[in-house]
Amino acid sequence: MNIAIDGPGGSGKSTIAKILAKTLRIAYLDTGAMYRAIAYYALKKGADVTDESTVLPLLTDMDMKVWEENGVQQVSVNGINTTPFIRENRISMAASTVSKIPAVRIKLVELQRNVAQKCDCVLDGRDIGSYVLPNADYKFYMTADSRVRAQRRQSELHAKGQDISFEEILADIEKRDLQDKTRSFAPLVICPDAVVIDTTNLTIEEVTAKILALLCK
Ligand code: C5P
Repeated sequence: MNIAIDGPGGSGKSTIAKILAKTLRIAYLDTGAMYRAIAYYALKKGADVTDESTVLPLLTDMDMKVWEENGVQQVSVNGINTTPFIRENRISMAASTVSKIPAVRIKLVELQRNVAQKCDCVLDGRDIGSYVLPNADYKFYMTADSRVRAQRRQSELHAKGQDISFEEILADIEKRDLQDKTRSFAPLVICPDAVVIDTTNLTIEEVTAKILALLCK
């Protein structure tokens, strides 16, 4: 069984995906972390994520590994565990920018499909239902008002010791939404066969219950 959850940043996808995976005892793949890992690695290697010609050479012998440690997904690139660094705010935008490059997407989509083929899992991202797994058993599109999403992101970053103004986070979220929705290759779209859930006024428990009820139908 494959469950696809797509939607913009801060919509609650990863929180819900983790709960679903635990409840259903299936695997969870956070595909955003994979784009973040490439962005981190590219910046570390001095590449300019806005310039495809500086990123492409890094892909040739790039070895990405994804595994779980104490319930937390880890992603390494060429032996460097990127996990502690990929949640920084600067990496969010860099991930969105690097993810516009088709060759980057093709590389990661192959890994994602391999995982989905091998086990029952829930994948969250931007293009899971539309491109990675168009035949997924269940597809959800989660969204929320951008100010609420920015508020959630600010709290997450604050808990990690990164204090960034609400205005800056809101501007970043809106810029990233636009970039993700308007890229030419596998943009963020609402699949016609996805169930849309607006989480603006819903608690985590309410969203989980709604999805579980649909899965058990
Ligand atoms: O979900 P998360 O915020 O970690 O994703 C970071 C960025 O990675 C997104 O803004 C998006 O540009 C990119 N991404 C993507 N396709 C996915 C998952 C993430 O393009 N399946």
